[in-house]
Amino acid sequence: MSHTEELIERRRAVVPRGVSQFAGDLSAVSGKGAKIIDADGREFIDFAGGIGVMNVGHSQQVVVDAIKAQVEKLTHTCIHVATYEPYVALCEKLVSILPHGDKTKVMLTNTGAEAVENAVKIARQATGRSAVMCYTEAFHGRTMMAMTLTSKAGYKVNCGPFAPEVYRLPYPNHYRYGDGLGMEAFVERELARFEAAFLNMVPAEHVAAVIIEPVQGEGGFVAAPFEYLQGLRRICDERGILLITDEVQSGFCRTGRWGAFQHAGITPDLSTWAKSMGAGLPIGCVMGRAEIMDAARPGTLGGTYGGNPVACAGSLAAIGVMEELDLNRRATEIGKHIMARLRNLPEKCSAVGEVRGLGAMIGIEFSYDRDPRKPAADLVADALKLCRGRGLLAIPAGTSANIIRILVPLVIETEDLDRGLGILEESILESARAHQVSG
Ligand code: PMP
Repeated sequence: MSHTEELIERRRAVVPRGVSQFAGDLSAVSGKGAKIIDADGREFIDFAGGIGVMNVGHSQQVVVDAIKAQVEKLTHTCIHVATYEPYVALCEKLVSILPHGDKTKVMLTNTGAEAVENAVKIARQATGRSAVMCYTEAFHGRTMMAMTLTSKAGYKVNCGPFAPEVYRLPYPNHYRYGDGLGMEAFVERELARFEAAFLNMVPAEHVAAVIIEPVQGEGGFVAAPFEYLQGLRRICDERGILLITDEVQSGFCRTGRWGAFQHAGITPDLSTWAKSMGAGLPIGCVMGRAEIMDAARPGTLGGTYGGNPVACAGSLAAIGVMEELDLNRRATEIGKHIMARLRNLPEKCSAVGEVRGLGAMIGIEFSYDRDPRKPAADLVADALKLCRGRGLLAIPAGTSANIIRILVPLVIETEDLDRGLGILEESILESARAHQVSG
């Protein structure tokens, strides 16, 4: 039995199966940059980045040093008990890189789900309204409100009753829901659908907020058309509804900007962040226009650990690395490089429905006969297994797990990126042949 198998067997004995695994054959002992080493000493190029957490790379030295220095000094007081500099400094930094209007405020959390929970609480207090609108294929986390907002049924089985006053519309996914319309007509129809919801679903004056991932992560790496986001901003302004963008997966340089919403030239009222913000440490935040953030009464926000000093120090260092290495520019380059390499994939494999993305947040959707209603999850699972055998770690996405997502650390060397893409393509084509898919 290999060390990896042994470790996974120990896991199975003490960790419940509800804490699922994408693949039951992977372990990790150490990581550096865009590579991880498993319990048997095997090296993997990491295209998963801990689900979009490792934009600055594994064990980034500046981050490691900052964490060590903070641990030596102060690990915890709780922000409700005593104010410490790393919390304030991180909020100042976030406000400077991601202003939400003239004056912006931030609350720190431990996770993305916690950020979403708090964004909804803030929006409700600020508007005095209770309803929240969200989207199909959305993922916002696994705590109760966040899970209610999440779409994929597989994440929710027997976990209800769910939170009330949540209303869901189709995500503006042109590939899946385009019905042969051109992009402009599609956006127009989807915005009209949104307006119609105030007649057939919930009155606008009951709606506190709409929450949207500008690029869906778990849902399959689908970017909302920029014109849709602009239209949504307009509708929200007209109806007094707050616009919350969930940037937990798309944030911190992944798409070539600090936040994906910036591509559309809009500013949300509130936004949620986590993952790469902390380079592996548990930290997230809600940011927003100051008057909205301040609408939440003292005592309604917070927790023991949110914005822990060590996590803050790590996050500040990670953001420093993003600035120093200009990871927004690098993400744009990486994205172009990947798209150029994968552009011909649909010609080589008839199950590749779409290769798409924004910056370095790229997904490949697989469906038999290129029919979005026939997801090729088995082909994807086999391709990813072949990848692992060849030293590449990648994970799926999508409500039917038929999308391969690329969340490579943005510090990856071009040579490793190319090697990883070679393995990915070879494995996809081999799996396609095994599933009798033609070229
Ligand atoms: N929102 C989005 C868009 C996410 O992708 C995720 C995590 N995949 C979450 C929220 C939840 O974050 P966490 O796992 O840190 O609770």
